[in-house]
Amino acid sequence: MTVQPTYDFLIVGAGLYGAVFAREMTNAGKRCLVVDKRSHIAGNAYSKNQDGIEVHVYGPHIFHTNDKAIWDYVNQFAEFIPYHHRVNVTYKGESYSFPINLKTLQQVFGVNTEEEAKVLLEKLRTPTNEKDLESWVIGQVGQELYEIFVKGYTQKQWGRDPKNLPNSIIKRIPIRTNHNENYFDDRYQGIPRGGYTKLVANMLHGIDVQLETDYLEKKNDLSKLASQILFTGPIDAYFDYQLGALEYRGLRFETSKIEKPKFQATAAVNYTELEVPYTRIVEHQQFEPKGLNHTIITKEYPLEWTKGKEPYYPINDDKNKILYNAYRKLAEKETNVIFGGRLGEYKYYDMHQVIAASLKTSREIIKESSK
Ligand code: FAD
Ligand code: UDP
Repeated sequence: MTVQPTYDFLIVGAGLYGAVFAREMTNAGKRCLVVDKRSHIAGNAYSKNQDGIEVHVYGPHIFHTNDKAIWDYVNQFAEFIPYHHRVNVTYKGESYSFPINLKTLQQVFGVNTEEEAKVLLEKLRTPTNEKDLESWVIGQVGQELYEIFVKGYTQKQWGRDPKNLPNSIIKRIPIRTNHNENYFDDRYQGIPRGGYTKLVANMLHGIDVQLETDYLEKKNDLSKLASQILFTGPIDAYFDYQLGALEYRGLRFETSKIEKPKFQATAAVNYTELEVPYTRIVEHQQFEPKGLNHTIITKEYPLEWTKGKEPYYPINDDKNKILYNAYRKLAEKETNVIFGGRLGEYKYYDMHQVIAASLKTSREIIKESSK
């Protein structure tokens, strides 16, 4: 006698990809079980209240998108505090506005007007067809700005010479000649009031969730529970690294409480010198100010990733792209498994992109199953 599975979908990973997929499928009448090996939901967007301050446990998360449909979607699950991300750079004891804008060019070169800034950038520009990050940045803004803002930070962040990294990593950061100091250009930006964990908990409302459950350790038993599986963990781990391990960048977070209301001018301050071991200091209360007499900061130290450590950033260089494509081919043969998300697709996705990708996949499946 064959036993019918209890669920239509087993969803591995309670991050944003998994949570959106579970919500959509549940709304369409499918039965879902979500499992995560961590002790909490929300994946890397996870935040928790510490001494009255919502701490972004795996690095600062700012929601930003130009897509009204995605903005409306997330606003169903949380009220968003209007927040426009600003970042200062500290380099050799000097503080600069970043991304590069008129104020930065004033600070470094003494130009005063937008016109002067345009003329200056035109002089510094030597565009190149080279695809590496170093040549691209120098081609856009010249050697001096590259040295102050990019060289050391990128070397630390990725543990690789910027000559050996693709320019796609940095192209998302704007270069401006006007007064706009915002980190992102997107029309919709904000922080969910009460944190991302609350937002994801609202998405998962009424859905079965099992934490501290590593799917790969109980693959046979868990797989029997559902007819289909969504896997949002690392694609190479799913296949037991049989073709070799994809490379990731790891991180270590050092969090401390400070007995004063404010620590620094902006929520994130980047330390761009190679000699400073961390890349940035984040001050969490600035995302949702409450006027407390204390503050909490986190120093972020990039690390070489090895198996067993938390994989934070996929390294989308040519070598890893080839290996990922080989895993994709194996994935296509797994008939009842869908791979999605930052780790399942080995993509440097932001939250709005993960939500869009998960909505697309789940809605296609729903449409297909209703035919
Ligand atoms: P994840 O959040 O990684 O979720 C995957 C889940 O799967 C995890 O919870 C994991 O525990 C679980 N899992 C893995 N393997 C197994 C297994 N074998 N069994 C069970 N569970 C498993 N995006 C922005 O839009 N704005 C930002 O400001 C921003 N800042 C960031 C800062 C940092 C430092 C980092 C690392 C990322 C940042 N992001 C930001 C990106 C954002 O975190 C991701 O886009 C998003 O969290 C990805 O969601 P996901 O569901 O694909 O993956
Ligand atoms: N970057 C840099 N200097 C900075 C900030 C960013 O050189 O002060 C480069 C670095 O290579 C980084 C990339 O730009 O990996 C993208 O930065 P972003 O802030 O978007 O990265 P994330 O939020 O993913 O850490």
